Amino acid sequence: MSYSWPGQYRSAAAFTFDVDAESTVLATDPGNSSRMSLMSHQAYGPRIGVPRLLQLLERRDIKSTFFVPGFTADTYPDTVRRIIDGGHEVAHHGYLHEPMQGISAQTEAGYLDRGLEALDRLGVHPVGYRAPWWELNWHTPDLLIERGFEYDSSLFDDDVPYRLSGDKNGGDLVEIPIDWALDDWEQYAFYPGWTGSGVIESPDKVHELWLREVQAHHANGSCFVLTNHPFISGRPSKAAALDRLIGDVKAMEGIWVTTLGEIARHTAATIAEVRTLARVEAPTDHPVDRTHGTGH
Ligand code: ZN
Repeated sequence: MSYSWPGQYRSAAAFTFDVDAESTVLATDPGNSSRMSLMSHQAYGPRIGVPRLLQLLERRDIKSTFFVPGFTADTYPDTVRRIIDGGHEVAHHGYLHEPMQGISAQTEAGYLDRGLEALDRLGVHPVGYRAPWWELNWHTPDLLIERGFEYDSSLFDDDVPYRLSGDKNGGDLVEIPIDWALDDWEQYAFYPGWTGSGVIESPDKVHELWLREVQAHHANGSCFVLTNHPFISGRPSKAAALDRLIGDVKAMEGIWVTTLGEIARHTAATIAEVRTLARVEAPTDHPVDRTHGTGH
């Protein structure tokens, strides 16, 4: 592996949080605002989850990255201020956690700018972006580079960060890859008629899964990026399992526990190669019968 971590570190771990709150359910259907219980399920994040997680991070003495949709910042400015006061990084996560698949560059630019304006009202000038649903479009890197973002964390194609070129302007930004196995959504999220697998896992099982993942990343010299949602992992049993995991990680020798912003800065300063991702298209001379089978 050609990636080298600073000083004596052999790998890195970042504990990140996406403060989606009500944004994502309202982006899916504005009528969801009439569902009092569903809205309360989402509000648990900024109301209870974030304060609990901030306490936990302070006790463990680590800094994290919080991705905050602009609408969350507008609705819960005090929550965002508490995150900032805790010394954590606040980064961009859309305005209303919009569905991103297939949208035009112009529409996406509008979402990005509205999110930036909302964070700016709280004095936040984010260097990092994570797409809602981790859904980048091929035009997204250019939009981020044009706006001065230093990194994105929404792609799946490596174990270590790398520099990613834009299409148009010759600039680049750092990509810090993620993994669906490292997201609490898949483990715990369930709301009837809204989302989730229907299986709410035991925190012990999730702790074991994530511990195996971070141990493998450490052995591999790569980058463990965990994504948690305060409305899910801010609940007592999940927060306790996360606390235990952070303790386990901090006890591992030579692992750099830090923010994505710090990882991006280190990558930009030490990696010379800038990667261009080739877009893979279906062969035009190979007709496929899509009327049969399951698609899997
Ligand atoms: Zn999100």
